[in-house]
Amino acid sequence: MAVTSTTLLVGDTGTGKSALLATLAEWGWKTHKKVSLLYSIDGGGFPTHLDALIRAGIVRVWKLRTRGEAFETCSRACQGQWPTEFLDPITGEVPPGVTLLPSITSIFTLTCGYCDAEVAQRAARKAFNHTIKCPKCKKQVNLQTGTISEKSSRPDFFKDVGLMFYDGLTSMQDWVMEDMAQKVGTGELKGEGTALGGKIVSGEITVGANNRSHYGFAQNRAAVWIQDASNISGLIIGPVFTARQQRATDSNTSLRIYGPSIAGQAKAAEVPAWVANCLGTTIVLDEKRRKEYRLYLTEYREEDNIPHLCKTRAFPGTMPDYLSDGPIDPESGLPIEGLPFNTFNLGYFQDLLERATKKTLAATAAAYPDAPGLQPVVIEQGIKEEIKKVKSTKPVPKVAVKKSGHKPPMRVPGKAVAKKPIPPRPTQRLVTKRANKQSEVTSK
Ligand SMILES: [Zn+2]
Repeated sequence: MAVTSTTLLVGDTGTGKSALLATLAEWGWKTHKKVSLLYSIDGGGFPTHLDALIRAGIVRVWKLRTRGEAFETCSRACQGQWPTEFLDPITGEVPPGVTLLPSITSIFTLTCGYCDAEVAQRAARKAFNHTIKCPKCKKQVNLQTGTISEKSSRPDFFKDVGLMFYDGLTSMQDWVMEDMAQKVGTGELKGEGTALGGKIVSGEITVGANNRSHYGFAQNRAAVWIQDASNISGLIIGPVFTARQQRATDSNTSLRIYGPSIAGQAKAAEVPAWVANCLGTTIVLDEKRRKEYRLYLTEYREEDNIPHLCKTRAFPGTMPDYLSDGPIDPESGLPIEGLPFNTFNLGYFQDLLERATKKTLAATAAAYPDAPGLQPVVIEQGIKEEIKKVKSTKPVPKVAVKKSGHKPPMRVPGKAVAKKPIPPRPTQRLVTKRANKQSEVTSK
């Protein structure tokens, strides 16, 4: 299974981003028999290619705006949640405020610390904040006198889902900005800057305006959305975001750049560092003024000589600079040579990335034949006891029943014990963290 790492597709409208998502959905189905979820924010219909995949069931689409509640909807979408009901599965429209299904559901079980019996099961950890009577020993059990275990499961709906696309980040940012302006208009949020308090009253309507704090707020949301999406488990490849591009100034270097368009300019140069792969889509014209669609995998410049920030998580030199099918015949709309979407294809990009990763792994293994490889954490008995001594700062009284062969209680009844640390999340998070770290290194 491929390493999960987030990809961001950056380019102007009409440079083939939706078509590229369609190529990736096809790849997901052909190679892994997995369905793609398309979280669509932009208005309008879908290109024929994508529409056909939706009708075939290879892509499932949700138009986020039809649910309303900009903040909640965007946040939950980026956690991989999906509507439980649709008005039209072809357009992706849902009823306003529709209930969302999480991609992972957890069941928490409270086990009695006195008799080891199962006390209760709940959907949330906080449901155990009050005491519950143990059905076996009839004692009152709470977080201090019992233990909680968590079991996660994936709802059936997500079992054949392997890819998630967010189209796109810029529109999600626009939506939450509009929402904040609207809340200024209705008085839910305080306006600033003008005598009118950031509001314009026109006849019967009041229009609010965005202020500076809204930009910072929206930018932070963008970072959280991408982070949350990269932690979604069960996908065959990391989530894919699209974004329009904007010209901005890198606040660190004061140089002009092209980067993903999120609210304001301040973070545009930073966003590529939040993802493993930041790819650029553009159209170039050849000497005969024929169009050529290109997917850039590395930084590129056009006539204005301003860099477009692009990168992949692959080792430098293991990937081509860009992917293209060559010039398009203006009459047929097909490439002059070869098939359409043969190379200008995100599935092809995934294959290249996997090959490049394997090559790097093989080269590293060959360079260090004596490397120890992956090792479990083994702790000698002596050190284990040292750790125990350090850990037990609060001396816990010895349990008398220990020697009699009885199973000792999990906790000393009635004694307040320091709260148990929350058990670590599934390994998925570790993997993505590593992937992010790697992307940070390569971005430097
Ligand atoms: Zn009990």
